[in-house]
This record gives sequence, structure tokens and C-alpha cells, in this order.
Amino acid sequence: MNDDASGWVDLLAGADLWHTAAVGDVPVIRMSDGPAGVRGTDWAGPASASFPCGAALGATFDVDLVRQVGEALGREARSKNVHMVLAPTVNLQRTPIGGRNFECFSEDPIHTAAIAVAYIDGVQSRGVACCVKHLVCNDTELARFEVSAEVSETVLREVYLVPFEAAVAAGVQAVMTAYNRLNGTFCSEHHWLIDDVLRGEWGFRGVVVSDWYGTRSGAAALLAGLDLEMPGPSRHRGEALAASLDDSAELRAAVMRSAARIGELARWTGAAETGTDQRTDDDPATRAVIRRAGAAGAVLLVNRTVATAPALPIRPGTSVALIGPYADQGRVQGGGSARVTPANPSGALEALRERGYAVEHRPGCRIPRYLPVMSGAFEVEFSDEHGSRLHRDMRRLRFVREAFQDDGLHGMVAAHLTGTVRVASAGRWRISMRAVGAATLRIDGEIVVALDGSDRGGSFFGFGSDEVIAVVDLAADVDHRIELDYPMAPSPGLRGVIVGLAEEIVTDLIPAAVAAAADAEVAVVVVGTDDEWETEGEDRTTLALPGAQDRLIEAVAAVNERVVVVVNAGSPVAMPWLDSVAAVLQLWFPGGELGHVLADVLSGDVEPSGRLPITVPRRLAQTPAGEHRGDGVVAEYREGRSVGYRWYHRHREDPEFEPLFWFGYGLGYTTFAWGQATLAGDRETAAVVSVEVTNTGRRPGHEVVQVYLDSDVGVRFAASRKVAVMPGDRQVVRIEIPRRAWMVWGDRGWEFAPGRHEVLIGAHAGALSRVAVIDG
Ligand code: BGC
Repeated sequence: MNDDASGWVDLLAGADLWHTAAVGDVPVIRMSDGPAGVRGTDWAGPASASFPCGAALGATFDVDLVRQVGEALGREARSKNVHMVLAPTVNLQRTPIGGRNFECFSEDPIHTAAIAVAYIDGVQSRGVACCVKHLVCNDTELARFEVSAEVSETVLREVYLVPFEAAVAAGVQAVMTAYNRLNGTFCSEHHWLIDDVLRGEWGFRGVVVSDWYGTRSGAAALLAGLDLEMPGPSRHRGEALAASLDDSAELRAAVMRSAARIGELARWTGAAETGTDQRTDDDPATRAVIRRAGAAGAVLLVNRTVATAPALPIRPGTSVALIGPYADQGRVQGGGSARVTPANPSGALEALRERGYAVEHRPGCRIPRYLPVMSGAFEVEFSDEHGSRLHRDMRRLRFVREAFQDDGLHGMVAAHLTGTVRVASAGRWRISMRAVGAATLRIDGEIVVALDGSDRGGSFFGFGSDEVIAVVDLAADVDHRIELDYPMAPSPGLRGVIVGLAEEIVTDLIPAAVAAAADAEVAVVVVGTDDEWETEGEDRTTLALPGAQDRLIEAVAAVNERVVVVVNAGSPVAMPWLDSVAAVLQLWFPGGELGHVLADVLSGDVEPSGRLPITVPRRLAQTPAGEHRGDGVVAEYREGRSVGYRWYHRHREDPEFEPLFWFGYGLGYTTFAWGQATLAGDRETAAVVSVEVTNTGRRPGHEVVQVYLDSDVGVRFAASRKVAVMPGDRQVVRIEIPRRAWMVWGDRGWEFAPGRHEVLIGAHAGALSRVAVIDG
């Protein structure tokens, strides 16, 4: 590397959305999202292996398996010539309605850290860098670009920074800063966070990258330690930064340091030796690990006995009514930047039929968050400042564009769309629009929706408005004239507008589902969300299942006593029907092997062996972050260190706070007896809890033994171990308590928490028994 700083400025920002620039002897580095697959550099493909979402991986409680998942992700990255995967997401599931919860591993920092380290080890063992994200407290999507997380240093150190610190200790190559502010300062220019803690205290030597369009300043961010502005071309660096270098030795030194780190990342990933093509391998080994992880993360919450046998597993040959809005295919993933285009996903209907069930499918209801995109014949005229025009035809009224995309639309400042649409039946129709920026929609010459650009509702990754719906009367089989005016200001980098259309009257699909359930021996009702309800850019507003799904379950349960509810969502949902059904399985978004996973666990060929990585509460109001209606300015972390199950422990005397299912909870297809647990060593040495577990049932099964500590600061998870035990066999499980688990952040840094500690053991956070007491 030569030492003329201005020559290196171009290396400090992306060349485009996914690549750095080649500068001097440093080759291009290619990046891709993460975390549930490696999409590559194109939103629409090539197809990718689709992995279980973060919450599902957290639910496996199996670090060896997650390491294998990481290795498969590393192979997938290699097949797309990707040098760095923008993953894992290690923010915490602070509220059960967080829009990106499905990407995160857990509500607990220590558990998140354990899973993250396994993931990173796996990916990086293939010579592919991980970029752990988003430092720090990007725990909500509510006003995510602006909101300031107000958190004390103690809580940051003991809770939200824990997974990042562990990732750094595990050798992660890059860290992405969060969009939000931390105690008033944007994370991408937070000197204390990046330079003092991350680099100074933890000794991080890799690259710090901004979240996409999350760099907020030139010199300030660079001096705080932000190496790479993404994406490019740069908005804050480039010529402006180069011009300011002559006057500042400090800036020149910062440029040289950041350039050296980016150069080292390129070297570490072998970027100089790779090609540029992007392939889909559809590798059988990858499919196999996705399938295993799907079942290992599926959490059996309820399995009641109906007549003489437990509702699950279901004997092949049984007649099954497969019910639910997406039950035939299932939903493999959540929305936002984590999306991939799954390669040949396995659907539930086909997989269950293949496994020997007689299956009838009925949707029962529909749950689209937005109206379906309007189809018709449209022409768009784009114009630039000089009056040049360009025409494009469109069949669906959906326009999304990223600045710097190579689509021939550079410099276009306005779009005027005209066209026609026909409807099949006369009557009232709902017409809608959501957009980034201002947009005006007319039908037959009348304005129906006008957006002024001020509303940031959540669509388009949080850059767009809410969907605004108008009701119009339309005649059948005639051309209705559509006009859309869309001024395309240059900022932000993402532009988009979507127009929807649907008949106002919705057909009730429940009766047909109920009829099918009445005719079948078992009703499997797959409910949940989808990639529009759970997505980056927008939190949910409620725990309730969208649409008529609760009503659907109750109606089906009224005619069939063997109802198995499969919750196909990335987060907990309210379960008002819990007492009416025979079994509940939390499947999360399990990735592209969904159908096979479901057939594996429903048939009993594989035990669903997951445990909840997040508490399922009864009511939103009783959760640590409460109703979680931010004002878009600050998010006060009032619950302090009492995240997740710790909160419910703190309120243990109040039955109102008793959760539906605790962190760590999950059943299996067998039963276990535990012996007397013992503790060897103490907190100064490596303390180890041992317990013998015996599989007392008739099937092979898994047990997840969990250790917690209770002290003045409350109950905290310390470590866990998952073991597989054959029927009749016993196994001694040893769990080491990490030294840090005993510590709190005090005035002089990490110190042993004062006072008495109870060492607790249990199968979930709500059923703990004492192993030993240690006086501090
Ligand atoms: C997300 C990041 C992601 C990036 C690139 C952002 O909107 O917050 O997690 O890696 O986009 O897609």
C-alpha cells in the first residue's frame, strides 16, 4: 500500500450496492445478505439455498448443528463468489413484535452469543467473512433510521453488546453499524462505540461497515472509526473527503488505517483469486443440513392425548385436512434484506402426500397485508431535467428502483404512467397505493390516492408510506383509465411505488375448511404471518395472528378434536384458541425444506427438538418493552437488564405476568427423568454443573439442559447443552458456566456480582431447581 491518502479514498466507499472499488493492489470485495441464505447481487435471483431463519436457529439450542449451517452458508457464498456475508443478525428480540425478530437468534444475550459464534465459525471456516450486524440496539423497526435507543452503559455491556463482543472474540472479520442512534448519536459515527469499545477494549481489527445508506457524515464517521460507507457511489466521502485531506493529518491517518483494514479483508477472503459468476449449486449436503436444522428448531408447545394417544406424531395413512392461508406451500422466510429466491422449495402439501397421508387442502382464509398488485396494460414515460424522454411498458403496477442500478434510468426525475385496467365484476373495488416519496394516482380522471411523501409507514424497507386505500365503483369489462404521477427525487437511494386492486367483498373461506376438517381424522392448521407481516422496515402492532386465522382455528376445532396447529411465523403469536386444540408446533420460517421438515416431524420420523429462544407472552402489555409504541424519536430501554424471561421472573408474584410459554420451553416425543444435579468448582475456576438424564420413553429424543444463575440482579441464563438419548439410555450432561456469567458491569468494569448466587438448573426458564448456593 502506498501512503498517499487521497489515492485510497475511493476504497472507503462502495462502488455500487454490493461491491467495493478496486483501488491500487486491493481487489473488489463482493458482499451479500444474509442471514438466512446468500442472495448474491441480484434481488430476483439467481436462486439460493433458503436456510431456517435466525429464530429457528436459536431454537435448535445446538451449536454443532449451527456450525454446520454456517459451513453450508459458506459454500453457498463461494458458489456466488461472495467474499463477505452480511450476517449474522445479533440484535435481541427485545419485543415479540419486532419486525426483524425472525432474523435474530433470541431474546437472551448469552444464548444469542453462543449461536452467533457457531454461525460465524462455520461461515468463516470456508474463507468467507461474516459481517455481524447491527451494532447496536437495532431492536425495533419503528423509525429505524432516526430513533435513539436510550440505554445505560451497564445494560449495554451486560445485554446488548454481549453478542458483538463474543463475535469479536471469535474472530469475526467485519461489523455493521446500526441505522439508529445510541443515546443521541448515530451508531455509524459513535466514537465511544466503535473506537473505544469495539476496537480499543475488545481489540477488533477488522472492518466496520455502515448499514446501507446509514453513513451520516464524512469526517465525523471516519474519525469515529467507520471504515466503509455502503453502498456506493459515496454520498459522504469521495471528492469532498479527498479535498479535505490536505488540511488534516488526522484525517489522512484515518484514511490510511481504514484502507489498510479493507485491504486486509480483501486479502483474508482471497478476493483476488475468485471469479464473478453466481451459481446455484442446490447442493444435497446443504439441503440435508437445512432439513435437519428445521426439525431441530421446531418447538412442540402442546401435545395432548386424544382418545388413547398423543395427537402427534400422526400415523402415515391417516386422512389429514391441511388448512391455512399458505398451508399448501408454507412460508419459508421473512421479508426485507434477508430474502432470497429459494431454489425449488419443498411445499407442505406435496411432502405430506409423499409421506403417505391422504391430504385435502383448504386455505380457510387469506391474510395479505397489502392488496394484490394491479395488473393491466401500462406505459411509463420517464423524463429527465432536459426534457429527454424514455418509455417502458409494464403489466403490473409495481415499480421499484435502487439508485445506481444499471437500468438506463439514470438522471430521470419524473415518471408519468398511463394505462388501462379491467375488472371482471361490477361493484365496489379497493384501490391502494404505497410509495417512497410523493405520488398521485388517478382513475378515470379522478384523484383516488395522493401521497405527499411525508409519511414513512414502513413499506420499502421503511423508506415508504403506509398503504393508503380508497374505495371506488367500477364497471365490469370496460377499460378504466389509470394515471400515475411520480416525481423521482434523487434521494433516498431507493424509489418505489406499488398500486393494488381488489374486490371489496371478501369470500368467507372458513366453511369449506370446516367441512374438510369434519371429514378428516386430523386437521393440521398452518397459521402464521408472511414476509409482509414480518419484515425489515416495520414492526408488527399486535401479537394477534393476521386476518381471520384465530376464528378459523376455533371453527375447525369445533368439528375435529385432533387439531394440530402449526405456527409458521418468525415470532410468538397470541394463542386465544390454545385450550381448544390438541397440539401446537412452532415451526418459525424454516427455510426451503419446509415441506420435508413438516412431514419429518408430523410423522415422527424426526423429533421436533427445538426450545423457545424467546418467551411467548400472554399479552403485549406485559412484555418487557410493553406496548412498544415509540414516538419515533427515542426508545427508552426502561426494563434495563430485565430482558425476556428475566422480566417475567422479576414479576413472578403477579399472575398477570405469567407467560404462556417460557424461554427454553419445548416438548419432544419422549420423556426424561433427571438425576440429582451437582456443582463442581466455583466461579473463580471453571464451575461445572452435572446431571444425569434418562430417556424414560419409547422413542429416541433430545433434552436441552439449561443452567441459570440467580443473584441480586435477577435470574440470568448462563449456558445450556442439548443431548440426544436413545430410549432407556442415560447420559451425564456437563455444562460449564462461563466466568462472565457471574459478572456484572460495575464502576471499574467487569466484576463478580456481589452477594449470594443460586445455581439453578431446569428444562426451561420457568421451571428451575436449585443445584447449589455460592456466597460472593
Ligand atoms: C439492512 C441490512 C442489510 C442491508 C443490505 C439494510 O436495509 O438493515 O441488514 O444487510 O440493508 O441489504
